[in-house]
Amino acid sequence: MSQYEYDLITIGGGSGGVRASRVSASLGARVALIEEGRLGGTCVNVGCIPKKLFSHAAHFAADFEDARGYGWQPGANRFDWPTLIANKDTEIARLNGVYAGLLADAGVAVIAARGTVVDPHTVEAGGRRMTARHILIATGGWPVVPRIPGAEFAITSNEAFALQRLPGRVAVVGGGYIAVEFASIFNGLGPQTTLYYRGQQLLRGFDRDLGTHLAQEMTRHGVTLKLGENIERIGKAGGELQLHLASGATQAVDLVMYATGRAPNTAGIGLEQAGVLLADNGAVKVDDQFRSSAPSIYAIGDAIARIQLTPVAIAEGMVLAQNLFGGANRRMDYTQVPTAVFSHPNVATVGQSEEQARDRGLPIDVYVSRFRPLKATLSGSPERVLMKLVVERATGLVLGAHMVGPEAGEIIQGLAVALKCGATKAQFDATLGIHPTGAEEFVTLRQPVAAAGAA
Ligand code: FAD
Ligand code: NDP
Repeated sequence: MSQYEYDLITIGGGSGGVRASRVSASLGARVALIEEGRLGGTCVNVGCIPKKLFSHAAHFAADFEDARGYGWQPGANRFDWPTLIANKDTEIARLNGVYAGLLADAGVAVIAARGTVVDPHTVEAGGRRMTARHILIATGGWPVVPRIPGAEFAITSNEAFALQRLPGRVAVVGGGYIAVEFASIFNGLGPQTTLYYRGQQLLRGFDRDLGTHLAQEMTRHGVTLKLGENIERIGKAGGELQLHLASGATQAVDLVMYATGRAPNTAGIGLEQAGVLLADNGAVKVDDQFRSSAPSIYAIGDAIARIQLTPVAIAEGMVLAQNLFGGANRRMDYTQVPTAVFSHPNVATVGQSEEQARDRGLPIDVYVSRFRPLKATLSGSPERVLMKLVVERATGLVLGAHMVGPEAGEIIQGLAVALKCGATKAQFDATLGIHPTGAEEFVTLRQPVAAAGAA
């Protein structure tokens, strides 16, 4: 009989915590999962899922316009925000129930409370202390808003999912995933939308061509981009917010949303006193098998802030559970993680950007196609799609595939398999296209970009 009540106690019932708990239980471990909010965590409740539903809602605006060139005469379209919110809430409540069912079926004890670590083998939740051989910190992250005067008037993505009404004028701050996604959502649903980004290049860290192309397309869709601009102070007068900009200008808006990054949710839960070391950004420091400086305490997902994506948190949870209870000795593979940004248009990418490949110093060839998709011919839309391959010249290995355009995530997901298999440009060329699609362009790119040829 074990000296501990549980083999594993997980704090945090989001993407990573749920998967690690379920798999551990299925491998025979006695598992408790502590969640203070709603099961499913950020992704299900205030992240991926509601965001993608909002994104679908916003896409209809352009679809109605496009339909005209095809002979449709849409009537007077009216968008009703409360309907979207209510339907979204119903779907999320359904998903919360699915998660509860999956955990119950796996035999995981779910405790609805805030969990804190008391010592390396003890956790407290709901006024009760419990012991475990292993403790898993899967507490996710939380939005960070710069401490400027008036920051209390700003919202973050958390609140954006539950707005009572849709404002007329919105400012979104940031140039990363959430900022471009929400600027596209607001813009599509109706509000006059301005995106303020302190840098010049949206989606820093992605292939540069993606950010440049996205900026052009978002502008075409009607988002006002203020690049190289920051907000120094936010004032409130009447029902209006005044943004005081670093450039000296002011702008009146009805809502300002900050999307300036997320920090690990690790403060005030007893980690330091249990001997767990945290990095400067609050991330739990872990080794390549997710073990912290306290040997019985592990951490995964946004709490370790390696790559803040749901499939990454899930995969980390799987690796950990199999190592702890399945006799495995696995490490997480962080190479070629595909990702999509659900801005309008979508952006998706897998593998190395042109800049990363050049930094490695090996000669590369770069193939780029910018084209007007077939659908745009009759709709009259000036939309352009970007597709790009980065290829190692010596081996022909496709190092990176990048796209801006409709369903980019769906297309790059397939190419991610090819890159994982070590596909070469010759194999891309030997693959027949599916005609007529946009995706076939990826297998018909023949000429490298002239000026980009030499590394
Ligand atoms: P989380 O899912 O954040 O779960 C952590 C859980 O821990 C939460 O439920 C929280 O309530 C709970 N918790 C915290 N502290 C305690 C405590 N002390 N006691 C009990 N419970 C606690 N990723 C994608 O891959 N695709 C997307 O399209 C995407 N869109 C996103 C959109 C937005 C707006 C945001 C904010 C994020 C998005 N992400 C997306 C990122 C993704 O949501 C996260 O990477 C993922 O949810 C991380 O999973 P996790 O398990 O580490 O943490
Ligand atoms: P990101 O890290 O993607 O972007 C943060 C942005 O805010 C950057 O443009 C950054 O600028 C800017 N910024 C940071 N600090 C300041 C500041 N003090 N003043 C002004 N601007 C600032 O974070 P997000 O909040 O957009 O999203 C968090 C994470 O969640 C993402 O990185 C991603 O991993 C995940 N996510 C994934 C999604 C998906 O898969 N589709 C969707 C949404 C989120 P700079 O570039 O100059 O540093």
